[in-house]
Amino acid sequence: MSEQGAESALHPVAATFDLLGDRLTLTILRHAFVNHTRRFNQWIERTGAPPAVLTARLAALVDAGVFVRVPQAGAPDRFDYRLTDLGLATWEILVSVWGWQREWTAEGALHPDLVHGACGHRGPPVLMCRGCGRTVTPRDTEVELGDDALWRFTSGGRRRARAPVSDRADMRFDEVMAAIGDRWSATVTGLALAGMRRFTAFRTAMNMSPTTLTERLSRLCDAEILCRSGEGAGREYRLTPRGRALFGIFAFLLAWSELAHPEAPESGLLIRHRKCGAPLRPALRCRGCDTHLARTDVRFEPLSHTVIDRLRSS
Ligand SMILES: [Zn+2]
Ligand SMILES: [Zn+2]
Repeated sequence: MSEQGAESALHPVAATFDLLGDRLTLTILRHAFVNHTRRFNQWIERTGAPPAVLTARLAALVDAGVFVRVPQAGAPDRFDYRLTDLGLATWEILVSVWGWQREWTAEGALHPDLVHGACGHRGPPVLMCRGCGRTVTPRDTEVELGDDALWRFTSGGRRRARAPVSDRADMRFDEVMAAIGDRWSATVTGLALAGMRRFTAFRTAMNMSPTTLTERLSRLCDAEILCRSGEGAGREYRLTPRGRALFGIFAFLLAWSELAHPEAPESGLLIRHRKCGAPLRPALRCRGCDTHLARTDVRFEPLSHTVIDRLRSS
């Protein structure tokens, strides 16, 4: 957390999207959780990332307190990267991203299965409110925005160079990256999740030139996250079902941001669960047995080759 001071002006949620809204970073974390990857060379092997890019991502994750570097026994100039408690707390974000890919992308069926150990249920969990225990959909919630929250969210901070796209299957975060991979797209998707529809409303909220805004909105339409209707000033952009299903990812990113920046001033971004009136503390619940899931209750199981071949040929 040594460099925290230098970035204290950066909005905590913006820092979270900058850090985790990146395909290689999500891949690094996925391998850390699923394959217990801890070493630089293992990530190189498994992700195919260029060494310099991997070095930069791991350094950013160490700075953010997600990994801690531990000298390897017998080779003190080499390090293992171990997930800290804060790092382990990203598991619900990863499960939500996985669940979305599983349900809403073409190659989703090829992803590993999430299994609940206690009941054996396989497949994505549902989002619940930790406060009242109910299942939560975006329609049950309200997003509250502080006065300058959007401005603070979109301004400042470093822009990171994008990692080159690898053709490895586990690098395929393209579709979810359209929605969370940069702060502007995240803002548009977030506002749409909060119920915003009209072009003019987006324009006022984001203080953006019509050309740039149109371009962002079109990109989200191409990714089938939004769909367009109407013309001129009455033009509207609505979330598609797969766009609305991104809600859990946003809720967990927001919650993790609070965990990662406990000292930061109020972010000005709050999701309220209307049914209980409290700020949403998101959690995951098994669809099979309705139990609240903890990280150690679930595991990923790769699909068998027979299943993969059958899915590929169907
Ligand atoms: Zn609630
Ligand atoms: Zn279960």
